[in-house]
Amino acid sequence: MEIRHIVKSVRAGSIAEEMEIEPGDELISINDNKIEDIFDYQYLTEDEHIIVLIRKKDGEEWELEIDKDEDEDLGIEFENGLMDNYRSCHNKCIFCFIDQMPKGMRDTLYFKDDDSRLSFLQGNYVTLTNMSDHDVDRIIKYHLGPINVSFQTTNPELRCKMLNNRFAGEALKKVDRLAAAGIEMNGQIVLCKGVNDGPELERSISDLTKYIPYLQSVSVVPVGLSRFREGLYPLEPFTKEEAKATLDIIHKWQRKVYAEHGYHFIHAGDELYFLADEPIPDADNYDGYIQYENGVGMVRSFIDEFEEEMKDRKPDSSIKREISMVGGMIMDKTKNELIKKINELYPNIIVHNYGIRNDFFGERITVTGLLTGKDIMAQLKDKPLGEVLYIPRNVLRAQSDMLLDDTTPQQISETLQVHIDIVESDGHDFVRKIVDQI
Ligand code: SF4
Repeated sequence: MEIRHIVKSVRAGSIAEEMEIEPGDELISINDNKIEDIFDYQYLTEDEHIIVLIRKKDGEEWELEIDKDEDEDLGIEFENGLMDNYRSCHNKCIFCFIDQMPKGMRDTLYFKDDDSRLSFLQGNYVTLTNMSDHDVDRIIKYHLGPINVSFQTTNPELRCKMLNNRFAGEALKKVDRLAAAGIEMNGQIVLCKGVNDGPELERSISDLTKYIPYLQSVSVVPVGLSRFREGLYPLEPFTKEEAKATLDIIHKWQRKVYAEHGYHFIHAGDELYFLADEPIPDADNYDGYIQYENGVGMVRSFIDEFEEEMKDRKPDSSIKREISMVGGMIMDKTKNELIKKINELYPNIIVHNYGIRNDFFGERITVTGLLTGKDIMAQLKDKPLGEVLYIPRNVLRAQSDMLLDDTTPQQISETLQVHIDIVESDGHDFVRKIVDQI
């Protein structure tokens, strides 16, 4: 079905506003070209001189000649941000987290997208299995980038097995085309024990280094395993020794790539360091936190922000407060160490730091972003909370004030009879909330 491109809003002061384009208007064409999706729109609006055909709400058609700076945005937001239907994935990955979610959650949480357009728009990682040759042609023609690729492995047979898709191995050839055309990419490997780790990981890293410099970085993150895996491929968590062995492989390749190219390229997810009980590397190892959104370097960045926030502060025993905080188990030890440092300067601030066990998804899920309100409420019942309970921003769903299980901070506040405030997921705000109450 052909998608109509209806204007949702027009940015104040933009070219679109100047041209009297309004919400409800329909974009018909640019320079006589139909718009297939956001790829086309972004490309066609790049030029300095464009002719835009708009159908007004009353059916009248306006042909607008626009002179603008190159790359200047028209300032239009469309009702459908992708300007096309969202493409769902064609895979059934053995590690898919959506398959490991309990029933009865919001419908949108079960949508399996694998849409390369979302990779450019929102940084989503895509498997390339439903990217058509036409899409690859357009990415190359429009020189879009970076595109984020979920590799898992470069072994074609193993990739078919991991993604449960017989075309998954073949899909890797698209990476050759993209790299040959100079398209920037980032990669991700979801590491599954006994499947794509050990020698297979070595092989993948070795293969992927051949795409340097177009492939800028690759993260290796251990698979998330919830308690809802009945009937799914049997996957086990990594032991400390296995996590250490994985880090050894990654560090060996980091040294090799760094010696040749001056950056690290391959990165281990923070969780691997916790599993291996190894120290978190310095900031320099994260190549400008290029894989931050994949949980690579978040802990280092948090600690460094904390240190920076603390460095010029003087001891002050006049500040007296009692507060509480929650977070996933993964950061619990680190946060306790940081709170100890706060108490060295501010001995009369009592912080109850509660690492929340994830009973909803199962104890093996330790990240803060997957905590639910029900677990927080159940585990903090009868616990001292002080004057305020701080909840990290990343337990709230994007653009919403609800947690994953649809509870709200308000509900938590009413249940626990405590004032709730949000602490941003950075070390500066951590200190400021605890000490300065701002
Ligand atoms: S690509 Fe794989 S992991 Fe991603 S949604 Fe589809 S099945 Fe799940």
